[in-house]
Amino acid sequence: MSTIPPDVLIQAMNEAVVVGVEHVEAGGLPFVGVLVDNSGVISDFGVNRVRETRDPTAHAEIVAMREVLNSDDRDDLSGTTLVATGEPCGLCYRFAIDQGVDAIYVAVDRDAVAEWGFDYRTSYLSLGITDELRSTVFNSFPAERGNEPFARYFHTQINNGR
Ligand SMILES: [Zn+2]
Repeated sequence: MSTIPPDVLIQAMNEAVVVGVEHVEAGGLPFVGVLVDNSGVISDFGVNRVRETRDPTAHAEIVAMREVLNSDDRDDLSGTTLVATGEPCGLCYRFAIDQGVDAIYVAVDRDAVAEWGFDYRTSYLSLGITDELRSTVFNSFPAERGNEPFARYFHTQINNGR
């Protein structure tokens, strides 16, 4: 159970959404992940770095989690909560759960994200993320502008004729 103060979660999510919009406008993907604990935000706002790094696991959420694991020289991520604009994929859930993240707060869930063109729902079971396991960490946390990074990305793709 997460004990993160609500104002920390709200502020982190709102900022993640803003970063997501900016990243989409810069040509990136709408996913942003950030780690918080009782004291506030403890990572950068992670964005997807797969293309630049050629690292297929450099998803936004994993980028943020790795940063804390590396910088704080800690054994795991217990006591932390992952805040994400879009629901993490199976790989990111696996990473978060294996590293002991307490909870995951999500503005736009996987079904809604799929409607915006990102359908990775088959990734869950192949990585052992059953609905039961997901429910131990997942929290729906709608944000005021939560859809905006995804809507902007969606329209960018249409305008590009893709
Ligand atoms: Zn992912």
